[in-house]
Amino acid sequence: MRNVALPAVSRRAAMRSCAHDESEAMTRRDTTTVREDSESDAPSASATRINIAPVKACTQTLRLKVKRESYAWLNVAAMEVNTVWNWGAQVSEKAARPCAGPRKWLTGFDLCSHSAGASEYFQKIGADTIQRVNCEYAQKRSTVKRVRLRWRTSRGARRSLGWIPFKAASLKRQGRAVRFCGKTFRVFESERLDGASWKQGCFAQDAVGDWWLCLPVSVSIGETVAPQEEVGIDLGLKDTAVTSDGDRCERGTFYRDIEQKIAQAQCRGHKRQAKRLHRRAANRRKDALHKFSRQIVDRYQRIAVGDVSSLKLVKTHMAKSVLDSGWGMLRTFLQYKSQQAGRSFQIVSERNTGRTCSNCNSVSGPQGVNGLRVRRWMCAPCGVWHDRDINAGKNILRRAEWPASVCGNESSILRIPPRRASRSRKAGIGTAGSRA
Ligand SMILES: [Zn+2]
Repeated sequence: MRNVALPAVSRRAAMRSCAHDESEAMTRRDTTTVREDSESDAPSASATRINIAPVKACTQTLRLKVKRESYAWLNVAAMEVNTVWNWGAQVSEKAARPCAGPRKWLTGFDLCSHSAGASEYFQKIGADTIQRVNCEYAQKRSTVKRVRLRWRTSRGARRSLGWIPFKAASLKRQGRAVRFCGKTFRVFESERLDGASWKQGCFAQDAVGDWWLCLPVSVSIGETVAPQEEVGIDLGLKDTAVTSDGDRCERGTFYRDIEQKIAQAQCRGHKRQAKRLHRRAANRRKDALHKFSRQIVDRYQRIAVGDVSSLKLVKTHMAKSVLDSGWGMLRTFLQYKSQQAGRSFQIVSERNTGRTCSNCNSVSGPQGVNGLRVRRWMCAPCGVWHDRDINAGKNILRRAEWPASVCGNESSILRIPPRRASRSRKAGIGTAGSRA
């Protein structure tokens, strides 16, 4: 697993690493990370060395909509994939629980060798897709450690969404279209495929029934140094996110806006229309969160986010608002975007951040559910007025513990009180390197 917070390359460190080649830098990064984990009270000299963490390339998924004329072909191919999947499920279950003889846990390789020559029984898919399905099945089964995974169903209300995986070599570019299994597929925005090289990918269907070509491609990233130093982000319901500098990501009412229309469509039995509306809400939400996270990552070098969980709150009367806010999605976007841009990213505990005064550190703010209504409050001990969300953002920022000397624009003030810093270092927690 990769570290969440890959420290950015400082200009100095980058110049130093230019002398060495990439592999050397990588090994040094590995060794220093290990050393930091094992030595609890390592001196700051070793901590500065982990800054050489070049992220030269990352994987992004190109998602291109397939034109409608190919849907029929893809639907049939998806059924064939389901057949292969269910065959794999059956065979591997039988091997794991045999009537007699020793048990065997079949790997993807075993399944592939058992299914050799099966492609002649299928009209659409080829051997490479069969092998990918087998390997995917075996891998997923090992991950969840279950004897059998759920069947893939091709028909009925609980139909599995179509999925056709393939290997890199089986998808070829042909002019503005792509060729797969002897058929030409036209896609929208085909110019995005220019210069892209993919390893493997899949055709995937969404709930509405549209097909998408998904290709993981590696893109090179230029690490930059952000103009501003650090930010803490408080996730909430009034506004989806509020930064410690007072920027707000307004609460989206993506679902609420079209709730009525969805209800009407469902009443009239227009299932497809309802699904389409759901997809529109999801797309609008995603778009807003993408824009906000991009803005944050472009502006700040270190980003701390609260760990508020939607799991508990969805059981309350706030469920719709919680689900509409997309906290988890925003965190994911911030995380991968910071990784790509070489920023430091941390998720910190939100506990009491709303009540603690960011000025004098006393827990004096409004408490409880009724306290949530209070948007501005005055700290009694020090007399400073706080905006609830901005104060929480500041507290989140203070709780984040950054590895020493992360980036080009160093902080002059030590944000963590020294006593707490040494304690967390002894426990071996809190440093960005050790977080998964
Ligand atoms: Zn105070």
